[in-house]
Amino acid sequence: MKKDSENPIIVVGGGAAGMMAACAAAGEGAKVLLLEKNEKLGKKIYITGKGRCNYTNCCETEDFFRHVPCNPRFLYSSIYGFDPHAVMDWFESRGLKSAVERGNRVFPASSRASDVTKTLETELKRLRVEIRLNCEVRDLLTEKEPERRVSGVRLGTGELLRAEAVILATGGKSYPSTGSTGDGYRFASSAGHKITELSPSLVPITVQDADIPEMQGLSLKNVRFQVRDGRKTLFDDFGEMMFTHFGVTGPLILSASANLQKQIGKKPLSAEIDLKPALSEEKLDLRIVRDFEQNSNKVFRNAVSGLYPARMQPVIIRRSGIPAGKAVHDITKAERMELIRVTKHFQMTLTGLRGFQEAVITHGGVSVKEVDPSTMESRILPGLYLAGELLDVDAYTGGFNLQIAWATGHAAGAAAAASAAERTG
Ligand SMILES: Cc1cc2nc3c(=O)[nH]c(=O)nc-3n(C[C@H](O)[C@H](O)[C@H](O)COP(=O)(O)OP(=O)(O)OC[C@H]3O[C@@H](n4cnc5c(N)ncnc54)[C@H](O)[C@@H]3O)c2cc1C
Repeated sequence: MKKDSENPIIVVGGGAAGMMAACAAAGEGAKVLLLEKNEKLGKKIYITGKGRCNYTNCCETEDFFRHVPCNPRFLYSSIYGFDPHAVMDWFESRGLKSAVERGNRVFPASSRASDVTKTLETELKRLRVEIRLNCEVRDLLTEKEPERRVSGVRLGTGELLRAEAVILATGGKSYPSTGSTGDGYRFASSAGHKITELSPSLVPITVQDADIPEMQGLSLKNVRFQVRDGRKTLFDDFGEMMFTHFGVTGPLILSASANLQKQIGKKPLSAEIDLKPALSEEKLDLRIVRDFEQNSNKVFRNAVSGLYPARMQPVIIRRSGIPAGKAVHDITKAERMELIRVTKHFQMTLTGLRGFQEAVITHGGVSVKEVDPSTMESRILPGLYLAGELLDVDAYTGGFNLQIAWATGHAAGAAAAASAAERTG
């Protein structure tokens, strides 16, 4: 390609990673063109954190990687280069006040996700980044002489745009209604990149047990959820979950889904909920004995309201095998033990994950082995940079995924600008 200082760095995708990449590149003085196929930037950001955008997690940076089950090492350089505190400073110095909540989750103080996008848009404007909306990229262009290199993009309209470098930030396949329809996998693959197996992650789980839908809408706080494959424990954690018409969801379940990628769906997996994790079996027995003493003249079905939420009571009663109409003073110790077992080991059989439509993120993506971790440049096609969810990295909920998008976008933008400056002299 002719060394033409007029060719911009093209950023494909105006989501979190793409907008940050464009700001970082333009901040280094590069000419930047941001292409977004939607009618507006950051469509997914609007729905993050239930409309409040949990935009990072201000844990200590060393702790960050414990929240990244997939390829954390690849992220060391970019996360240390633009860590959660630097991200908070970046937004705050541009006028976005933040609020830190439980678990170091960082939100805009206004609780409006749109304020995150607005801050980025204002910065893009200040840095004179050219933005083209309703602009779908169809293909990557490469040149072979004098060296094999990315040379631009072809739009859906057929128009060819030449570029000094191309940053792909097209996101994953989850929530495709926001524009993340997986186009970037095709682009990267056409450049010669390996795409690891894609699956929905941070996603609700389907359950086979017939009594689960009865509890649809019921939320449980502070429960323990464990999943096993034979003797092997695949997941074990505490938190909040909810029953649905097909199975289970909620933060605890979404985290579990990230750990069950390899096993789930291939065979049924057994899971159990400990409904009273703060009580040992002995303490729970004392509690039940006390409740039963206070209700000794009632029948069983009317004596459990202090122990379980209303929607769960019929299910627990059936699973315990104790007749619902049995007088409480007639309940035997063996029956009580069975009630304790059901409470501490509420069993379910997990059958699979829900689809990409409902997934917070995509597991899998462009293999990180073929991407330079400090610059995000492709090791296969020079001049091509990759950032955000498109890469084979993913994290748990809590602001970690957006932090990955900011950090990888920032690294890609800064490196592409430095390389462009060097090439164009
Ligand atoms: C419901 C929900 C809630 C979430 N909540 C949080 C949260 O609170 N905290 C958190 O950390 N993470 C959250 N996430 C995850 C987070 O939103 C993503 O990890 C993050 O948005 C990924 O950023 P990205 O820029 O890589 O991709 P995206 O945000 O998906 O952006 C990709 C952009 O590229 C555009 N694009 C795609 N193909 C083309 C093409 N061919 N031409 C032009 N443009 C194209 C798309 O339209 C899109 O705008 C949530 C996700 C969902 C679905």
